[in-house]
Amino acid sequence: MNYRHAFHAGNFADVHKHVVLLTLLEHLLKKSAPFFVLDTHAGRGKYDLQSNEAQRSGEWRQGIDRLRAADTSIPLLQRYLSSVGSTAQSYLGSPLLTAAMLRENDRAVFVERHPQEANELQRALGRRKRVSVEEGDGYAALKAHLPPKENRGLVLLDPPYENDTEFDDLANALRNAYARWPNGIYCAWYPIKQGNADRRLRRTLIDSGLKKLLISEFNIKPSDSPLGLNGSGLLMVNPPWQLDEQLRELLPDLHRVLSPDGAGGVQVEWIAGE
Ligand code: SAM
Repeated sequence: MNYRHAFHAGNFADVHKHVVLLTLLEHLLKKSAPFFVLDTHAGRGKYDLQSNEAQRSGEWRQGIDRLRAADTSIPLLQRYLSSVGSTAQSYLGSPLLTAAMLRENDRAVFVERHPQEANELQRALGRRKRVSVEEGDGYAALKAHLPPKENRGLVLLDPPYENDTEFDDLANALRNAYARWPNGIYCAWYPIKQGNADRRLRRTLIDSGLKKLLISEFNIKPSDSPLGLNGSGLLMVNPPWQLDEQLRELLPDLHRVLSPDGAGGVQVEWIAGE
């Protein structure tokens, strides 16, 4: 349990993930029926970009900092910027972004295994009706909370990939969760690095019979560069109607801001269904 998201908060992968998360939540808000969000790997919710960790890695400078400086006129990116905080000092993660979007009858559960992160998250969220923080294993929470009584909503899976089994753990978790709740929207983040781990994840899920699988990949380096994170991947099950078109329009603009030299690229592709 060494992973600390404070080193990575606000980097290009967070920006990609949170822009897509916001888009998914906006789709859920189109209908008046209440929805449920389960965030299995929630983190601490609020990150200080002046902290030692953030200053040491400096990753946010190629992420949120570039977008904040770009003065974008794209409405969805403007909404994202106001959701994650408009000051250069801090960055809000998935639980605070989600909680801010919920209506009175919507509900969310945020799961975080690291006790200190879970405490910080509870503090950042404060006490709110229908919003809870659970300290524990996010994969086990899928069993405990699915299917939700609302029968509509989103599961975000954003594990740290600290060990080699994480891709397989994620594939198993998605398969089991989908069997419990086939109506849910699922969005799982994965790193794109040299090697074939992300390709194997795709294959496993296609072979498991999951229908309607959309991927959104956002690379800032060629995908076979040997060092570090080349790209950010999101695998979505049951994405809302026309999300694919929306992302195809939006993400190239975001890419121009986050990868000014044009390295890498954007891909939005159905790998099953549609
Ligand atoms: N989703 C967050 C966001 O977008 O702001 C970032 C999450 S970060 C990538 C992954 C988090 O998962 C870390 O805070 C880590 O402590 C936590 N974690 C690691 N293993 C876990 C597990 N099995 N269950 C729940 N949380 C876990």
